[in-house]
Amino acid sequence: MLKEIGRQLDLDIYPIIKNGGVVVPNTTAEYKPLLGEKETTNERQGQGRPETGPRTGTTRWQRQADRGGETGPAPSIICTDLQVTYEGELSSVQNAYPNTRVWHQPEGLWLLSESTLLSGLQPKVLFLTGIPFIRTRVVRSWGFWSGGLLRYPTWIGPRHTNFPDGSVCAFDPNDNAWRIGDPIVRLLDLYTLWAFRHLHLQKLGRWPGKQVASIPYERLTEFRENEFCGCDQYDKMYRDCCREKDLTRNLFNEYKDYIAQTGGVRRPPDSVINFIRFQEDIPRISDLLYEPEIFPKRF
Ligand SMILES: [Zn+2]
Repeated sequence: MLKEIGRQLDLDIYPIIKNGGVVVPNTTAEYKPLLGEKETTNERQGQGRPETGPRTGTTRWQRQADRGGETGPAPSIICTDLQVTYEGELSSVQNAYPNTRVWHQPEGLWLLSESTLLSGLQPKVLFLTGIPFIRTRVVRSWGFWSGGLLRYPTWIGPRHTNFPDGSVCAFDPNDNAWRIGDPIVRLLDLYTLWAFRHLHLQKLGRWPGKQVASIPYERLTEFRENEFCGCDQYDKMYRDCCREKDLTRNLFNEYKDYIAQTGGVRRPPDSVINFIRFQEDIPRISDLLYEPEIFPKRF
């Protein structure tokens, strides 16, 4: 099943996500879901939902803005329309991801949801997802393997997570896979598929499907030759595209550039880890869902 779905992802065919975050192959091979398309078929165990987004599983670095020189926090305007929209979706979230826990804060919602990935699989995946009611802030989620033989939930990363907070990077904010105000279930589906790709990487040794990574150091140290290259020609395998060129680079200089551009660290904030592992208090939305730079540096 893992291989079959991985093959489909390589072909840009998006699998079906069933309730509970169970991923199954897309049985209509020629079927390619379109953005915004509504699900019309009923799967036996609940409603299947077509996966969306042309380049999910991409890496796009969003650095935390350097606030050192700022004179004060930008005004944070709570959008009541967003609040009403998101809170109105909570019953469909419970339907698609049963037993999701919800925390309501003035500035947004926290969801703790579980995705099974493959029927009967242990461990499962826990997502802690923050959804702000403030349009200038971004959604953030952290993924953890949880259950089975694991003593503690274990962070899923560092591949395709954001610098520096280790949050899920499941789609490029510019590719319209999910935009502010879009359905929460679709967002959780994108995260589920991201975790599925991690499972594929862990069990079968490669990231399935298209990916983005424009910093050579990351390709050199993390990418396998038989994965898609992360450059602009992202439909080629790394071995047939940038690898040879990357290997001739000065690794020390590449490392310096990588550190300069990313900070080099990807790790969930302590407050997230303490909440997930030790049931400490839920973090505050306003502390973790920062406002991205207005003109983000392109890497
Ligand atoms: Zn390339």
